[in-house]
Amino acid sequence: MKAVLFRAHGGPEVLEYTDFPTPKPKPGEALIRLHAAALNRMDVLVRNGWPGLKLELPHINGADGAGEIVAIDSPLPEGEGLGVRVGDRVVIDANLSCGSCEYCLDRKDNLCVNWHLLGETMRGTYAEYVSLPEKQLYKLPKDFDYHKAAAAALVHQTAWHSLVGRGNLQKHETVLIVGAGGGVNTASVQIAKYIGAQVIVVGSEAKKLQMAESIGADILIDRSKEADWSKSVFLATNKRGVDVVVDNVGATFMQSLRTLRKGGRLLTVGNSAGPKFEIDNRYIFAKHLSILGSTMSTLEEFKEVMDLVVAGKLQPIMDKTYPLQEAASAQERLWKHENFGKITLDIL
Ligand SMILES: [Zn+2]
Repeated sequence: MKAVLFRAHGGPEVLEYTDFPTPKPKPGEALIRLHAAALNRMDVLVRNGWPGLKLELPHINGADGAGEIVAIDSPLPEGEGLGVRVGDRVVIDANLSCGSCEYCLDRKDNLCVNWHLLGETMRGTYAEYVSLPEKQLYKLPKDFDYHKAAAAALVHQTAWHSLVGRGNLQKHETVLIVGAGGGVNTASVQIAKYIGAQVIVVGSEAKKLQMAESIGADILIDRSKEADWSKSVFLATNKRGVDVVVDNVGATFMQSLRTLRKGGRLLTVGNSAGPKFEIDNRYIFAKHLSILGSTMSTLEEFKEVMDLVVAGKLQPIMDKTYPLQEAASAQERLWKHENFGKITLDIL
């Protein structure tokens, strides 16, 4: 098969469009002919590598993908599993779990003790084919666009688990989203609006803020004009503070903690500005705040949120599509924050 792989960690120049053996499905797995992959910032982090990361090289990036099932090894009997068949159009849940540990048995499979993320520790979707257990697949309606499905999957499941599963966001609440352009943040704006909450977005560019408004954000704060945006948020809530903050930046935690009302929750699924930063503990205990971290979602939540996506209730925001061969340029666009919404790869 054709794939974009890397043989050593490094910059975009290590990505190579070349031939690689097509994976063979193991028992219970489906072989998927991918038509679209979507990018995540994690792809670039994996390509760059970090101390302690040990991959079987060459490695193939990519957590998100959608395509058609072309083979199944030992399909489950009728009535068991998801009932997927050869020819079905599917989108992938990249949250890989063992199915048998205490967390998996408790249906908290994103806490699996043997957890893997497709494209991180396993070869991913920047390729013509990928082979995965049947439970990782969601069957798409006949004419649902592969690119939209791939773009929706990881960011929507992540935002859904964080806002709904962890954050328990309610419709009478106000949520602040720090950052306007990223995939998880645009999914969070839509999910918060779907729940019925009021949404405040802090962003750094007028254009991205306008786009956030076009997908439902109620109040926009331009941090390039208001350096101390926590004050603006405080004033926008009549000095009450917000109920929930979505902060996947990290370095902004102090401002985010300041914007929260007493008893408020800070939700985080990442740290786009780096993993280490200082926070003042006095805000946390004196204001009774909760910091709730999570990653990905359970299989059940993935199905829940994809049902809303295919019903058109949540719309993946599409940025730009590149041919698979141009994955390096696509990653550069993402890494430089030039996108609004998801970048996808077209796999012919
Ligand atoms: Zn498990």
